[in-house]
Amino acid sequence: MKSKAIHFLAAFTALLCMLAVLPTQAQAEDAPNIVVEMSLDGTEIEAGQPITLTYSITGGTQPFISLSISMTSYCSDNTSFEVCRIDNPPLQGTLTGIPLYGDELLASLALVDTNLGFQYFSIDSIPIINSLDYTPITIDITPSTLTPNAGEPVTFTYEIAGNASPLLSYSHINYSSNYTYSNGEDYGYEYMNIDTLSGTFSYTPPHEGIVTLDVTALLNFEDGAGKLVQPTFTLDVQPAGTEKPARTPGDVNDDGTVNMRDALALLKKLADWDVSINASNADCNADGTVNMRDALLLLKKLADWDVTLQ
Ligand code: CA
Ligand code: CA
Repeated sequence: MKSKAIHFLAAFTALLCMLAVLPTQAQAEDAPNIVVEMSLDGTEIEAGQPITLTYSITGGTQPFISLSISMTSYCSDNTSFEVCRIDNPPLQGTLTGIPLYGDELLASLALVDTNLGFQYFSIDSIPIINSLDYTPITIDITPSTLTPNAGEPVTFTYEIAGNASPLLSYSHINYSSNYTYSNGEDYGYEYMNIDTLSGTFSYTPPHEGIVTLDVTALLNFEDGAGKLVQPTFTLDVQPAGTEKPARTPGDVNDDGTVNMRDALALLKKLADWDVSINASNADCNADGTVNMRDALLLLKKLADWDVTLQ
């Protein structure tokens, strides 16, 4: 079971949904405890069959600023599907949903109390058997460089694909960043919403040193599918004004000329042959990674297409 990850994802999702109404005052000393009871009418569920959650909420300072109850199914690749959800329901009742995908079902309840702030509750997830097929969601995030100069922006290009009905209803790419240097520590946090399937965001490191960027991307689609991805990028930030080493885009084998031998070397490398290449020169489109796009660009250049190696 991967319940910890699921609970984190569910709580994180609920928190983001409620950020807009989260009060900022400190917790009151005499706020009454909130007691939530939840139970499901089964210990496992067959995909396509209904399952019912029975819940009750007592305590807290009512009325709550917001209250939502949901059942979400989770797949092994971190794709999730909202099975059902109800906002601002009565303080006790039932909620019925029909999971179609995934291998675990989690019921959770999130509320914002005037005095207690954001509160999150859930019960142990139960297995889903015989999930229907689904198309996993993917997101690629590619930095323009991993060795920027201080004060110069790094552009991250993202591309989301894979969902059958890929209309983002609500999504976030945000990142926290930690910088470490020899004389101390610094950190930062930024947050942005995205509503397109591809685009860019940027980060400008303020100092030289090693910077770890922990990106969190939470994607939600109109059909109820979602995905949380958390890639990490490590930037080796150079002092401001550092000259980049001279490079010859396309000279993959580093012999001073750009010709078909370079294209062959790159294709071999991409096919995991044991060849050494100049990775900086091989990054023909200067997007920070070496992949088939670079090989195609180089082949076009060698065939006299009107393209430019960068
Ligand atoms: Ca060459
Ligand atoms: Ca490239």
